[in-house]
Amino acid sequence: MWDAMGRRAAATRELMASWSRVHSAAVNWAERLHARIVRCRRCPRLVQWREAVARQKKREFCDWDYWGRPVPSFGDPEARLLVIGLAPAAHGANRTGRMFTGDASGRWLYRALHRAGFASQPTSERRDDGLRLLDCYITAAIHCAPPGNKPLPHEIARCNDFLREELARLKSVRVVIALGRIAFETYCKTRGIAPLPAFAHNRVYNYSPWLIGSYHPSRQNTNTGKLTEPMFDAVFARARELLDTQ
Ligand code: SF4
Repeated sequence: MWDAMGRRAAATRELMASWSRVHSAAVNWAERLHARIVRCRRCPRLVQWREAVARQKKREFCDWDYWGRPVPSFGDPEARLLVIGLAPAAHGANRTGRMFTGDASGRWLYRALHRAGFASQPTSERRDDGLRLLDCYITAAIHCAPPGNKPLPHEIARCNDFLREELARLKSVRVVIALGRIAFETYCKTRGIAPLPAFAHNRVYNYSPWLIGSYHPSRQNTNTGKLTEPMFDAVFARARELLDTQ
């Protein structure tokens, strides 16, 4: 009996050690990639814009030391849910340095993630606010704030190396939520999905991993009622259902 217990304990230790090796390998690639993203200066127009915004600031954030650099992805590199946004907002993530943190879109996103059990808290105001993503990883079509929230096609193409690498490395992803048409099409092109499927809100596309299209929670969509909170919650509830069927 003691032999059997000893074997079970050894097997458990080996399992934990192997999980820990896999986990730390995942964290390592993500940290290395994020460090490369933060140093990137490949798009002259965006470098100029993100730094100018960080110098000039908005009056309500005049006491902030703006991030003013590319914003790295955020979350668990072993997550099963991947969320793809468009780009950092000039006075949101370009100020705080964390994806969707400190702006109106982020307030919608983190509330929805929290309600569906993918975030430890419903608010996201600054990098050190204690928020953790649970089984979720957030990236974007581009990592620098673009003027007017409109990246140019060649800037999306340039930043695509980072997304391509992430998609190759995020081995546990089972469901992808693309926020807005640009994120949706960028994801499909990066995956080599052709012809491009028609974008629709809360439609599940039967790929591996599953893809769900969602309207972006931009002010333009939320203020006009094109996107309501129940509509947005339904997307994350759908993702949860798909993951629960695994
Ligand atoms: S958008 Fe992407 S490729 Fe262009 S400078 Fe920013 S991080 Fe680099």
